[in-house]
Amino acid sequence: MSRNYYMAGNWKMHMTRSAAAQLAQEMVNQLRDGKHKYLVAPSFTLLETVSAVIEGSNIRLGAQNCAPEEQGAHTGEVSVLQLKDLGVQTIILGHSERRHNYKEDDALINKKVKLALKHGFEVILCIGELLEEREAGKVEEVCERQTVKGLEGVTDLSNVVIAYEPVWAIGTGKTATPQDAEAVHAFVRKVIARLYSEDAASKIIIQYGGSVKPENAAELMAMQNIDGALVGGASLKTESFVPIAKFS
Ligand code: PEP
Repeated sequence: MSRNYYMAGNWKMHMTRSAAAQLAQEMVNQLRDGKHKYLVAPSFTLLETVSAVIEGSNIRLGAQNCAPEEQGAHTGEVSVLQLKDLGVQTIILGHSERRHNYKEDDALINKKVKLALKHGFEVILCIGELLEEREAGKVEEVCERQTVKGLEGVTDLSNVVIAYEPVWAIGTGKTATPQDAEAVHAFVRKVIARLYSEDAASKIIIQYGGSVKPENAAELMAMQNIDGALVGGASLKTESFVPIAKFS
């Protein structure tokens, strides 16, 4: 089964409109001839600007979160309806910064996953263990729980991508070895096979995230079960994101 590589940039809480428009334009120009699937996920306030720049290009527009409700009295939240209105196609959910800094639990993430899928979005569901969980031998337990609970009640995986992001590797410069990452990706694929089917497991894209850089992208992507990258810090500059996105 051949899966297309999916290279995504999570811009986190960086930039204001003019810098974001400039970066998006550079990405459009430099990824025009790229062979993989691409996505940029800017802050909510930058979505409209970036949407206008990447329209008609081969880069998808992503959001970094959404509210668990469609609309109503939810001060400070952003709804899937508002994201759709701005041209967002994909929503990143369950990012470790949401799980650990903003205390989002599996049940809340699952609610958001189901709502986003119901509204036709592609979802990138992030999973991954803390350093102390890795040291306690709980990598599989944590990743299985986050996968099973995150996808509870989801019957069709065709719009679901999983991003394995070991928390200790995010923004730290520490990357999982390709072999360590591959072992978790293969395990998660087995969990999907058990929950859904071998066919669903062979088709689902599992990205790796955690200090992906131009220097390590190719060796990570060479692993059988690693189908792309979710890139944070290195996605903020074309000099680093484009070589990752066009790894060879
Ligand atoms: C991320 O936030 O999803 C991420 C992987 O960040 P970084 O690439 O900076 O480690």
